[in-house]
Amino acid sequence: MDDCIFCRIVAGEAPAHRLYEDDDTVAFMDINPATDGHCLVIPKRHAADLWELPDEDGDAVWRSVRRVAAGVRAGLHPDGLNLLQSNGRAALQTVFHFHVHVIPRFKGDGIHVPLLRAPGDRSQLEEIADRIRSGF
Ligand code: AMP
Ligand code: ZN
Repeated sequence: MDDCIFCRIVAGEAPAHRLYEDDDTVAFMDINPATDGHCLVIPKRHAADLWELPDEDGDAVWRSVRRVAAGVRAGLHPDGLNLLQSNGRAALQTVFHFHVHVIPRFKGDGIHVPLLRAPGDRSQLEEIADRIRSGF
């Protein structure tokens, strides 16, 4: 994928502050950090999003996310940490090479995760659960 910025980072053709690399994944700093230490973990093999991601690359990314999260904790001592992973424009995905955001959180950092939640209607929850189950 010549036009994919993350593939270019994998190939070493675009600059990145690399944190970690193994056979299947790379982790590097996000150039627009939400907090100090905000970084990204990606599979080396191009997949646009979660639905395109092969299981083995998903497993490899998860192992790297845990490794990077451990490094973040030991090195930066955050008060908490969010993982964020977006799929599709409607979910505000802007780079179409699967990635997981690792976002250290610090008390008073002012970040709000904009999920507006309200108690769900039980019969509607069950009906939606049925539609998901029928999709497996
Ligand atoms: P998303 O909106 O979930 O697709 O996130 C894409 C992220 O990639 C954003 O947080 C960008 O700041 C980040 N990003 C885009 N280009 C680069 C790059 N060349 N190096 C590092 N991070 C990047
Ligand atoms: Zn790519």
